[in-house]
Amino acid sequence: MQVPICTFDAKNSVLCPQCESKLESGQLTKADVDASMKLAKLAKTIPEIDKFSLNSCRQIGLNNIMYLSKSDIESTRKSRTLYRALSGEFSGKLWLVESEASDRKFIEDLFFPAKLLSINAVWAPGGLQKTKAIISGKYTSRFPIDVIQVAKIVKELRQLDLVIEFEEKK
Ligand SMILES: [Zn+2]
Repeated sequence: MQVPICTFDAKNSVLCPQCESKLESGQLTKADVDASMKLAKLAKTIPEIDKFSLNSCRQIGLNNIMYLSKSDIESTRKSRTLYRALSGEFSGKLWLVESEASDRKFIEDLFFPAKLLSINAVWAPGGLQKTKAIISGKYTSRFPIDVIQVAKIVKELRQLDLVIEFEEKK
């Protein structure tokens, strides 16, 4: 398992002086520390999680955004139990995104399981640049993703103003 704090710290729910000073300097966030310890706890009983590579974790309101490796995300998407175990550790909503991804991939991961058809830059009145994302299908009340939260996360973490549209109009 790889986490942003020492594996020893994560497994023992303590912070060594080095990690402590990284937290104080802002090199690590409290969300990074919490997520690392949560993963280490789960890894004791779930072998797949012991192979995870957590790059970082961000908290925005009630949203927890975990940056994981591509294979970690793939295995979590394949296993409902794995996702449930992970999200059960967080009080808010858990989002899984790939580490070091492009803006497009980042937005695609947030919309999963809905399909992102395209993203492109658009100019709004006043010369403001926005990013338009087009989602496959049409919006129904059963749409699984909270689009307002997606826009909020994208704004905070990618500094993009997202405009979300659906392929089929209502
Ligand atoms: Zn440490």
